[in-house]
Amino acid sequence: ERKGIGRLRRLPSRLVSGEDIELLANVELANELPLLHRNGAAGIGLLRTEFLFDESEALPDEDGQYETYAGIVADMPGMTTTIRVLDWGGEKGLARLRQLGIHREEEEENPALGVRGLRLLLRHPEILETQLCAILRASLHGRLRVLLPMVSSVNEVTATRQIYERCAKRLRRRGVKLPQELPPLGVMIETPAAALTTGALVRQAEFLALGTNDLTMYTLAVDRSAAMGSELYTALHPGVLRLLRLSVDEALRAHRPVCVCGEMASDPRVVALLIGMGLRSFSMSAALLPPVKRMIRSLSLTGCDDLYRQVMLTEDPLLLNQMVRQFAV
Ligand code: PEP
Ligand code: MG
Repeated sequence: ERKGIGRLRRLPSRLVSGEDIELLANVELANELPLLHRNGAAGIGLLRTEFLFDESEALPDEDGQYETYAGIVADMPGMTTTIRVLDWGGEKGLARLRQLGIHREEEEENPALGVRGLRLLLRHPEILETQLCAILRASLHGRLRVLLPMVSSVNEVTATRQIYERCAKRLRRRGVKLPQELPPLGVMIETPAAALTTGALVRQAEFLALGTNDLTMYTLAVDRSAAMGSELYTALHPGVLRLLRLSVDEALRAHRPVCVCGEMASDPRVVALLIGMGLRSFSMSAALLPPVKRMIRSLSLTGCDDLYRQVMLTEDPLLLNQMVRQFAV
């Protein structure tokens, strides 16, 4: 098995019909990097920074964060690391928010619908600025991109871009030699509002990442943690797929790179469906890369297109699920 994976790592991630498919890794902790390399990831599609720092200790300052990001970026030679700014709120980072005196739980009856992700950072810009400065400095050690979580309107992106440019200016004044062109700023599509306004978002963002975990939750009104594994929570629902198609069409029309980084991307048969939708880039836990790559190497684009067409004609979510599960190469 190990030998098989060693061989697989060196083989291209390419359909039988010749199209290259980019396979990236989702990373939460720096110690996942050896497995990422062993399984042949072509980069980091999502670095969830909210898990990177021990919550029992204070959040590192700019220098401390810089060291962590630079270490990861330097361990990805010739590849891109997508660093997502802190996605606290919802079910994530509650201990940290308490520690920082941001007592959300008492203020919000429904934290999944509250001030989380980028919304929270824009209300505490000093936290965002520290992180963006650390990331910008780390960009001198390798290729990276900056990703914004829980975007629901285009103003959030323009506001963040202003802060981003202000950080760069401040660093340059401090003598940090940043390139004229800053690392790309991208947006997570994980709220229905973001999916429906992708056309506007791509004018402000240089790349997109489809966060199907949250997008499924917000589209179906089913909590992702409470209902995980139940038949209520599934991205294979006509509503979710139509939203995805809308967003992907706009991203492709604007020639913006777009990657799927929700759990959906780690199911090989679902990846076939998403290739049919026009997607060519997927990010998943490093451990799940080999089966997806094996599947990709056995697929042809026409097979993916046929599956996609059939699925989009299916209105019954149960039938739709069955159709994807039974998809045979
Ligand atoms: C998602 O919502 O699909 C996603 C990738 O982000 P997270 O799982 O970290 O919320
Ligand atoms: Mg999310």
